[in-house]
Amino acid sequence: MNFREIRSLEEAANSFTDKAQTMVKGLRTLGTLHPFVGVAVGAFVLVITLDLVRRDNDRKVFLVKLKMSELMSVFFELRHFKDSEDKAHDGLSIADRLAPLMAEIANDIKAAGSACDAYLKKGFLSKTVKASTYEGRLANFIDTFADHRNKLELSFALHTSLGVDAANEKLDEQSVRLKAIEEKLDAIALFRQVDTPREKDVQKFISEHGGVKSVLNNDDFLEELISKSGESFSRISGREAGRKSNDLPSVRKRLLKEVLEDVDEVFNRNMVLFEKKLDMQSKQLTETLQSESDRVIQTLLSGAHDRIIDPDLQRIWKDMGWKGSVKARHFVLALHDYYTDKLSSTSSDLPVFDSSTLPSPPSSRASPVKSPNTATFRRQSSDDKWALSYINAAYVQPILEAVDDDGTGFVSVKEVNTFVASRPDGWSLPTWIAYWAVGWQASISQYKSKIYTLVQEMFRTLEHVLPSNRRAVDEYLFHPSFWRIELLLRSTRSVNFKVLSDPDLARAADSYTAAEEERLDNSLSDVAYELDTTATVQLITGEGRIERYVFPLIYLLLRQHLKVMTLGCKHVLDTEELSTLNESLVSILLLVDDRIQNLEAVFKQTHLDIQARLGNFAFGIFQLSYGDIKRVPIQNSFGTWVDDDENSAGPEPITAEVIHAKYEKIPLSILKYGIQDGFQSTDYFEFEPARLRRVSHAIQGTWTGHCQRSDGDEVINYVLRISFRVSSDLRSIKGKGEDFANTFNLEGRVFRTKGGYELEFALSDDDEETSAFGFLDTTSETLIMSWSDRRRKTNYDDPYYEPINMRKTPPSLIRYRYKDHQFAEDPIRARWAFACSAALHLAQEKMWSRRFLEARATERKRFVELSTRSLIVKMGLTPQKPLNPAEKGELEYLRRELNPSEARFYHALSQFEIQKLPWHPAWGCDWCTRRITKSRLLCLHCMTDNLSDNIDLCAVCIDKSPSKRGFVHDISHDVVKIEETLHDFNFTRVIDTARTVIGRVKGIFRTLESANGSREVGQTDGESGDETRADPTCACCRQRVSTPCWTCVTCTKDTFVCMGCDTQRVKSLSDGPSPHHKLNHPLVKVRDSSIAGADATAEERLVILQQRLVAMERQMTSGLAGIDAKVEERLSNLEHRVEARLAMFEANSELRFDALEAVLRQLVAQTAALPSLYAQVVKDQIRSSMPPSPRSPRWFQ
Ligand SMILES: [Zn+2]
Ligand SMILES: [Zn+2]
Ligand SMILES: [Zn+2]
Ligand SMILES: [Zn+2]
Repeated sequence: MNFREIRSLEEAANSFTDKAQTMVKGLRTLGTLHPFVGVAVGAFVLVITLDLVRRDNDRKVFLVKLKMSELMSVFFELRHFKDSEDKAHDGLSIADRLAPLMAEIANDIKAAGSACDAYLKKGFLSKTVKASTYEGRLANFIDTFADHRNKLELSFALHTSLGVDAANEKLDEQSVRLKAIEEKLDAIALFRQVDTPREKDVQKFISEHGGVKSVLNNDDFLEELISKSGESFSRISGREAGRKSNDLPSVRKRLLKEVLEDVDEVFNRNMVLFEKKLDMQSKQLTETLQSESDRVIQTLLSGAHDRIIDPDLQRIWKDMGWKGSVKARHFVLALHDYYTDKLSSTSSDLPVFDSSTLPSPPSSRASPVKSPNTATFRRQSSDDKWALSYINAAYVQPILEAVDDDGTGFVSVKEVNTFVASRPDGWSLPTWIAYWAVGWQASISQYKSKIYTLVQEMFRTLEHVLPSNRRAVDEYLFHPSFWRIELLLRSTRSVNFKVLSDPDLARAADSYTAAEEERLDNSLSDVAYELDTTATVQLITGEGRIERYVFPLIYLLLRQHLKVMTLGCKHVLDTEELSTLNESLVSILLLVDDRIQNLEAVFKQTHLDIQARLGNFAFGIFQLSYGDIKRVPIQNSFGTWVDDDENSAGPEPITAEVIHAKYEKIPLSILKYGIQDGFQSTDYFEFEPARLRRVSHAIQGTWTGHCQRSDGDEVINYVLRISFRVSSDLRSIKGKGEDFANTFNLEGRVFRTKGGYELEFALSDDDEETSAFGFLDTTSETLIMSWSDRRRKTNYDDPYYEPINMRKTPPSLIRYRYKDHQFAEDPIRARWAFACSAALHLAQEKMWSRRFLEARATERKRFVELSTRSLIVKMGLTPQKPLNPAEKGELEYLRRELNPSEARFYHALSQFEIQKLPWHPAWGCDWCTRRITKSRLLCLHCMTDNLSDNIDLCAVCIDKSPSKRGFVHDISHDVVKIEETLHDFNFTRVIDTARTVIGRVKGIFRTLESANGSREVGQTDGESGDETRADPTCACCRQRVSTPCWTCVTCTKDTFVCMGCDTQRVKSLSDGPSPHHKLNHPLVKVRDSSIAGADATAEERLVILQQRLVAMERQMTSGLAGIDAKVEERLSNLEHRVEARLAMFEANSELRFDALEAVLRQLVAQTAALPSLYAQVVKDQIRSSMPPSPRSPRWFQ
């Protein structure tokens, strides 16, 4: 494949589906002509069709599939063969020659399919940290396919070129070989060329920072790696309000586990599941083929209605003159009219009706929905009348949804046929329709209540889960899949239970529900209840809308998960066990998301309000899951849900006996990873001297030595143990090794040199390519060895790479061995002391001396305690209690001196301690940002109303006052301390109770304080206190408590714990004031008796109110004064302005008056000079120049 071809890879990928389907058809035909290819063709068809629905296509996987198809395309050469029994010149027929190869090809195709499947399931980061291993395996498959292809071509050539001479044949063979070598070199190079930019970027980052392990072990690098990968750890939508996860330690743990995981084991484990999937696929393929051929026959007949299988529907279709599809509403109404007509006519004329309903579709048309052993629900057709009442306008919507699978609002011929074909054996069409009209909703409602009950049982079982499983189970229950399921349940409208009072309907619904459940359960158990991808879910449900199956599937899965959880009450489970369970739920929810997206697209064409439309669809099941969804604890209904049916006062708590009886009955085989009760100790049996006697070699046996490595800022000293075996030809070595943290297997070679032996070996299955080189000095019996790996280039000064001196001292005695300087001072004495201590040790060990065992036990305890504390610091958990120098020295001493097998056991124990720490959601302390592990403190005031966000503090930061995300935390705020995961199940209850309790308790303290204040100290005896309660005493030490102290949220009776007892984690006294109080109960801190917020009694509220009133009054007075001042100011301003205006006006008018006066004077002077006649004229003139008023006499005009 050259570069141009790579570029067209995308195109090839796009057209691959079509091409593959064509190929599948061609190969099938070929298979009928040459049956011997059947096994290989069958495998290919299954693997290729199984993956056609898969969306998450990976280019590397695609390359493998492409090579697989290329191999299969060679099969088409067989079309030149008339008969597979044709003999070549060596007397072998092509069938004989290729039969073994066919089986091999079939196996390789299945193995490749499974490997690709397993690879695709790994997240981007998991794939990346193990890229070279995975790519190596995938490349092997490409090579294998190329190999097979060459073999096939060669064999075909043998048969077609019978005339070609041997020399030519050999030449061909040669060129074929060359080609094969070329291709082998290509595979990995090819992978490099198809790397996506993101893959390239991440790979570059890893190699620039010293390889996978060094990136994983560095917080900054790891964080950058995660951000570069763009991987989010939740695959389903829905977000946490504004909080960043700081879960580096567990991401690291997971990825490290991924790195150490044995790929072959992964592939093998996947193969089991994959083969089951292939089986199911094969079943479905045969069914599809069958129904396709049926349909072909039908299609040959003409007319749209003729393509409809059911005679009744066919007639409706014909009568209505419908074409390929019809509006769903019209369809349902026509259906109703048709059956009303028909059934009312049959009541008088039974035989006619009988003849028309009898021809039911051939029952061989097995649909995936149908169970092989459906409880047959045969009814007399005359009894169908009950069903009629459900085929009417009131039930248009559910009937329409049942037929109109894609939600377009149109019913097509194909949809009608699918609907009819999915009808259980022996069901009449009216019954089937009635089931969808009402029965289905009844069944959904039943599942809804069953799931609620199951989840509630899970939370009651949680109390009994072993501490070591607790964290995994908590994470499982806190997973987003749980609140997504809750959204589905809460969103779905329950049916009115009256509808099931119709016995006919109830019987139909029950029998169908039971059969469906059985079918799904069988399929689920085929895949061991593991739904790794959405494709697997579809494989199990068969065709059809997810809303039909979502509740039964969730119910069946959770039922299985509850079993796993119950086993977790007795056995230690693998941490992966429970996260796999979450993944199965996620696969279902991803299909739900897909469905919602499709519906949204369809609804958008006709509806503006999609949310409202979803509320009307499938009883509202998807309504709440649509749009911008997030976790809102206050709405979570898991804890508060009550079954309407049962009037019981809530379920009883589960007792230990009940749990015991339960887990005894559950087989351990339901666990995917098995139980982890025991410690995986390394078996050194094969290295015992007696076993090594067959080959004599100086290197054989067990070597021990001290070595070092840097770990963050410190240097760890520890004992390394390596045991070797030499092969019978004295050349190669195999062995095992162990230190306090790891075990490894090794393989290598040994050579004889001057003065001893040289050896080199590499660790098997190690991504860092760790290898070692050593020299054994036969005279001093010392093996000097040094490590080398990819990290070395950038960390060459790490003491890890310094030469290690190893001797044949038994691991348990290495602690007694003299140090170099002791030997230099006095060799004889040093040796003598060593021999004595060693002998004593061995003797004590043999005799199981008490002192010996006690000493071991003390060592173990110290090691576990110190190592746990140092791990907590290292993992960034809180609260921390760092080791002081003396303790550090002690841990160092133990690590350095203990037998590595013991040290590793103790190390595992301390990791186990970490695993047992209470788990809190991944967001950290709002002050120090560390991951909170033991006590989580929630502020009761800094909390949003819907409880989706609040201020969290760790135990160390309890007195800090962070301001974050809009909260301003104050030290006076009440806080509740949680020592267990606070699930949404309990969230509202705990917070509400905590608020009530703190209010009440503060009241008690206030009353006490005021009583103490008014009375003399001597008078405070109990007798006088009829209305005042007895002094609060600590539940753990019975001392009188005063503020500050803690008070319990869970215990119904007011329960107090003094500060001292809380810090020392003292248990409650069984004869104390609150014998039922437990250490894991949430506590509220009573800092003092003053009121911090709204949580107050009426009296306290009055006080607050009064304070508020005073404050308000003060505010008002000051406000009023302000207003007064302002008004005054304004008024005076106004006054000024008015005055100024008036003055101006006055001045102006005076001027005008003056002017007027002057004119008048002038006029008077002038008129005086004229004769009186003129005076009259002037008067008239003046009058006429005045405006006419209504009162003015008309004489003038
Ligand atoms: Zn903190
Ligand atoms: Zn606060
Ligand atoms: Zn106490
Ligand atoms: Zn309590």
